[in-house]
Amino acid sequence: MQPRLRFAPSPTGQVHIGNIRTAIFNWLAARHMGGKFILRIEDTDLERSTKEAIDTLLECMNWLGLDYDEEVLYQTTQAQHHLDAAKKLIDDGNAYHPGPVSEHSPVYFRIPYCCDDYPFVRTVGPATIALASGSDVVVSGAGLTFTTLSPKGKPVENQACLAGFKDLAVLDADDKPLYELTDDNACALLSGGEPVTVSGAAKLKFIRREVFYDDMVKGHLSKPLDSMRDFIIVRSDGSPVFHLANVCDDITQNITLIVRGDDHVENTYRHLFMFRTLGAEPPSYAHLPMIVNAQGKPYSKRDGDAFVGDFRDKGVLPEALFNYLTLLGWSSGDNREKMTREELVEAFDLARVQHSPAQFDAVKMANLNGQYIAALDPAVFRERAWEFAAAYPWRESVDRAAFDRVANLMQSRTKLMTDLAAWTYFFAVPVDYDPKGVKKFLTPDQLRAALAKAAEKFDSIDENAKAVEDALRAVENGDGLSQFALNQPVRVAVCGVTVGASIYETVECIGVRECARRIRGALAATA
Ligand code: GLU
Repeated sequence: MQPRLRFAPSPTGQVHIGNIRTAIFNWLAARHMGGKFILRIEDTDLERSTKEAIDTLLECMNWLGLDYDEEVLYQTTQAQHHLDAAKKLIDDGNAYHPGPVSEHSPVYFRIPYCCDDYPFVRTVGPATIALASGSDVVVSGAGLTFTTLSPKGKPVENQACLAGFKDLAVLDADDKPLYELTDDNACALLSGGEPVTVSGAAKLKFIRREVFYDDMVKGHLSKPLDSMRDFIIVRSDGSPVFHLANVCDDITQNITLIVRGDDHVENTYRHLFMFRTLGAEPPSYAHLPMIVNAQGKPYSKRDGDAFVGDFRDKGVLPEALFNYLTLLGWSSGDNREKMTREELVEAFDLARVQHSPAQFDAVKMANLNGQYIAALDPAVFRERAWEFAAAYPWRESVDRAAFDRVANLMQSRTKLMTDLAAWTYFFAVPVDYDPKGVKKFLTPDQLRAALAKAAEKFDSIDENAKAVEDALRAVENGDGLSQFALNQPVRVAVCGVTVGASIYETVECIGVRECARRIRGALAATA
């Protein structure tokens, strides 16, 4: 069967990089396997899933080149279908109203008591739970409630599904049975029989069963049924809960592989039962590791740029963001990091997704973006830079040809388009000078004297980088300075900063005569 994967976001307005990485991994896995990549918009939170939020999501996907197959499915259009499924579950005894039945009673999904033949359930063996002394145990169709003691000796109220306690015996302190759950009385409870309250219990003895599955990323996962509860699937206002809507839609869309964040691992244990009771084969699962900050905590807005829009606004290229996000939890296995979309599709394999959290690294992201910028056609870069610089007031008075010369010089040094903010010195005399630079390069008398001579030379030499270089070497020679000793003093005097592109080309770009004026001005300003 052709693999069918989906991205099922709940739009909230901003698109977090964790969400879009889920989309990217689904997209890559689908394209790699020759399967379908389907978009389902889980828009049931009417307050947050506004048209704007949905448009933002679609724009982000489009910007990143995440094209999808088939029509988008909007979850809200499926509400009736979800409620029909809830009714089927009730009719089959797999869901129930926990309280008195009325128009407004919520519906709970029941973890099926008779599940021994489910392929994802297995028997672990006999188990015992010690209770807080004198605990009441209430046994009903909705499960068990009982009290245990925490390691610190505090009473803890527990609630668990009936399916967790196959062949249950509630024992007193002398191991004498106070109550036994046979298949017959389980049947009676499940069909609405009165709850039983057992007092003075000391222990629960039962056959432990667990639900398990092989996650394509996390490996073999399991959870004892006695740690699970029945759960709500339709609210008292009649609206379907996430679990019901999500599973129903996956069935409707014939999804064969679910790739999503590992915050959904716990849900998957429940969903396996829902697929089965709704008559569908559960899909395969791959749960992606969380994206974390340097402290190992979930990466959020507080840690820096966290939304796709933040990166786009900074002028991060979509190809670079796409590539960087593939490296958050996945690796090619052969040390390749900068990879084209085609190379990624070719190499992408869910088996290479790491289990442990993936740390977001803004520096690495910027460096990768720098590699993409450096590889752009210079004419494209000039155009993008010109558009991007429109946000800076200095661009207004800048001549396009001069800007293009600067763009050509700076392309290979640009990591983020926001680096353009520092280009002002090309177009205007610096307003201030880096204090450390001044101390080191504009203060020693010998350097100041040499700078004055360099300015004099700049008054008459040819307007090109080679002539600038020759002039500086000549002054250094004449003044007994070591080779290159004037490079940094000239940079600080002309640009106000201590880092930048080749100083000879920078001077050429700004204009040699203008630089002569700037050097004199800097010497006067720092005298
Ligand atoms: N709407 C859910 C979310 O964004 C979907 C989870 C899933 O992929 O199943 O977390």
